[in-house]
Amino acid sequence: MLERGEIANSWRRERWDSLRLLTPNSQSRLPGYRYDGDPDGFMTMPQVVDFISTYAAESGAPVRTHTEVLSVTRLDEGYRVVTSGGEIRCRTLVIASGACNAPVVPSLAAAVPPSVQCFTPFDYRSPASLPDGGVLVVGASATGVQLADEIQRSGRRVILAVGEHVRLPRTYRGRDVLWWMEASGVWNQRFDEIEDLDRARSLPSPQLVGTPERVTLDLNSLSAAGVELVGRLAAIRDGRALFSGGLKHLFALADLKMNRLLDTFDEWAREADVDSSAPERFEPTRAPASPRLGLDLGSGEIRSIVWATGFRPDYRWLDVPVLDRKGRLRHEGGVIADAPGLYAIGLPVLRRRKSTFIHGAEDDARDLVEHLAGSL
Ligand SMILES: Cc1cc2nc3c(=O)[nH]c(=O)nc-3n(C[C@H](O)[C@H](O)[C@H](O)COP(=O)(O)OP(=O)(O)OC[C@H]3O[C@@H](n4cnc5c(N)ncnc54)[C@H](O)[C@@H]3O)c2cc1C
Repeated sequence: MLERGEIANSWRRERWDSLRLLTPNSQSRLPGYRYDGDPDGFMTMPQVVDFISTYAAESGAPVRTHTEVLSVTRLDEGYRVVTSGGEIRCRTLVIASGACNAPVVPSLAAAVPPSVQCFTPFDYRSPASLPDGGVLVVGASATGVQLADEIQRSGRRVILAVGEHVRLPRTYRGRDVLWWMEASGVWNQRFDEIEDLDRARSLPSPQLVGTPERVTLDLNSLSAAGVELVGRLAAIRDGRALFSGGLKHLFALADLKMNRLLDTFDEWAREADVDSSAPERFEPTRAPASPRLGLDLGSGEIRSIVWATGFRPDYRWLDVPVLDRKGRLRHEGGVIADAPGLYAIGLPVLRRRKSTFIHGAEDDARDLVEHLAGSL
């Protein structure tokens, strides 16, 4: 196992200070290992680092840290891996380098005037990272809503640009909503049973935050706290940010999808005779009466932009032609068909809806190892 940094590197280096997992401790599981704290709590970053480091030590994982993979090329049989610590030849190779190696920043960011400072979740640590003044947060998925909330609480003015998003309550019928995702089988749905797999793989992360109080962090709570909601950032022209209209429609769609998911939970609960409180429905997302469509970036109203517009993997070291036009690995449930012996793990909906979460690794690893052993 080759790791360019330290064990749990992404959790040590690439997260902001206040972050806690949005998955409850009951779902902090790795093969043969589980977190033994409060099942309903949410780990802080030092706790996650400790959890993964202890797992590595107890399982005796043969990790070579500070060993960066610089290139992988195909041989007649197997692969040649050039690393910062020498060369390795192997018959099979598993790409477990992560789905979130770099923040995605849209190309329109190039038109931001120099008076406005840009940040990504990789260089933002806390509100103190930002210059004084108002902040535009672009993107309202898990990262965007969490950062908008934290920055607003620090006493700054925050404008949040909202595109397509996935709304979820933190708790539903008395239990964590991710408990429902798991227990009802939604998270276990396999990649080959999903109708529009491409779409499932590109869905944004749910609007959730892990806090000791188990609060729901959605657009209603943000606007009640004073965050200004605007539409998707569509363009920056002559120093003006232009936002799409149609917020009402966007909100209605997210509410509809959330309610459909809650219907699925209710149906399962009925069939499985689950002992739980009555079904709930939540207030629809309130759209501002007339959300603004433009913002003069040179006016001083905002001094910084946080791009919470997603993350992407980085395969610059992979010299095997297995990427599609968008730079994504072409694979069938983690098996890379065009390159025998090459596998991937840890990507969105790799084999199941839960694949990209920590506890998703267990089932995917078992399936892939079976295939890998067979091919050897
Ligand atoms: C902000 C954020 C919050 C998240 N919150 C949660 C959550 O609450 N719960 C949850 O289950 N999941 C969460 N996730 C998803 C989380 O990333 C995955 O669950 C988990 O980290 C995936 O583990 P991984 O080992 O596949 O990838 P990573 O954790 O990204 O690990 C990949 C490793 O590969 C190393 N690497 C990359 N390239 C090379 C190279 N060329 N040579 C050598 N080493 C290399 C990296 O240094 C890194 O340590 C979150 C993700 C983000 C970005």
